[in-house]
Parts: sequence; structure tokens; C-alpha cells
Amino acid sequence: MIAEQYRLVHSQVAAQGATLVAVSKFKTVENIQQAYDAGCRDFGENYVQELVDKQPQLPADIRWHLIGHLQTNKVKYIAPFVSMIQSVDSRKLVTEIQKQALKNQRYIQVLLQVHIAQEETKTGMTVEEVVSILQEASNFPNIQFAGLMGMASFTEDEEQVRKEFQFLKKTFDELAQHVAPDSFRHLSMGMSGDWPLAVKEGSTMVRIGSAIFGNR
Ligand SMILES: *Cc1c(COP(=O)(O)O)cnc(C)c1O
Repeated sequence: MIAEQYRLVHSQVAAQGATLVAVSKFKTVENIQQAYDAGCRDFGENYVQELVDKQPQLPADIRWHLIGHLQTNKVKYIAPFVSMIQSVDSRKLVTEIQKQALKNQRYIQVLLQVHIAQEETKTGMTVEEVVSILQEASNFPNIQFAGLMGMASFTEDEEQVRKEFQFLKKTFDELAQHVAPDSFRHLSMGMSGDWPLAVKEGSTMVRIGSAIFGNR
């Protein structure tokens, strides 16, 4: 079931030219292995403890993406292996990722999370904060600033969601032209419920959980 769902979603996403990250939070290593065997290599997890538990039990060539809110004091647990941290929402966190990446003698890809939703509860930075971090990218030599991430409002109002995606795409294009380093090429937006709209509005990377693994 998971293998079939993965193949179906992957073919739809790939046909649009976007990258699929399979969001495996609360799913077992057996479930993840099924998607892996069907060809998936990019997996997203929300919680550090869960990621740290699963990672050693699964193939080493998986690219792990941390997509949930990350506390500064937990960066050290994932720094040895994480491929991309998508939910970077403060300068303090950027500074800590640099420190831990250096300690592990590796590069970590980072997406800066922009607050685009109406809900106050959703995390993310203002565009001004993002600009100021990117202007100092050279202070963070072990970080590859790979782009932006955003989460749209949880609403039935498709026009609202579209506006939020359009805002993030416009921001992404402006930054890519003016301040960002060469590595800046990913725009991560879109989940199971809204990814076709996100891709239509310029997303290059979608984070899909329930459409592959079923409801949590
Ligand atoms: C859980 C989660 C997803 C995947 O959500 P689905 O609706 O299951 O596809 C994507 N992005 C983030 C940040 C998440 O927390």
C-alpha cells in the first residue's frame, strides 16, 4: 500500500519537476523501509528524538530533512547526519547549526522558514530577518543556504492559500536575485492537501506525509 502510494505521488510530483520529501513522522521504520524500497530517498521528520531513534535503523543513503520546530539545544543530536534543516526560524538557530556542522566537519543545507500563514501559532521569520541572515552568509561557512520554506494557513479558502504561496515565491525570486548565495534554489512549500496548488505557484519541493503513509 505504502509502496503504491509513494510511486503514485512521486510520479505526479516528478511530472511537475518538483522534489518529493516523504514526511514520516509517527510512522514506523517498517513503513519507511517500504517507501525506501519503492525508491524514496528523501524523508522528513518533525521531532529530533524520533529522528535520532529511527536513523540508525534505516539505510545510510537516506537524506533526512528536519521539518519541525527545532530547539537550539537539540541541533547537536542531528548534526552528524542530517542532510537539510528546513525549519530554520531564528538567527540563533543558524549560529548553532554552523557551530555543530563545523564540529562534525560537514556541511548542512538549510532552508529559512518564512512566516506566511495567518495563524500566529505557525513559526517562521519575517522577510527582513531572512535578508539579514543571508547578507551575512559568509559568517556561516558550513551552512549551505539552500532556499526558503513556508507553511500556508490551514483553511478551506483556496484563494488565501494561493496568496500566501505567491508571496513566498515572490520573496524567493527577489532574494535569489539580490542577496542569496549560489546554492539558493529550493522553495519548499506544499503538503498533502495543498501541494498541487503550491507547485503551480512555483514550489520546487513538497513535503507529503498522509498522502503516502495514510492518516496519522
Ligand atoms: C506533518 C508535516 C507535513 C506533512 O503533512 P501531510 O498533510 O501529512 O502531508 C509537511 N510539512 C510539515 C512542516 C509538517 O509538519
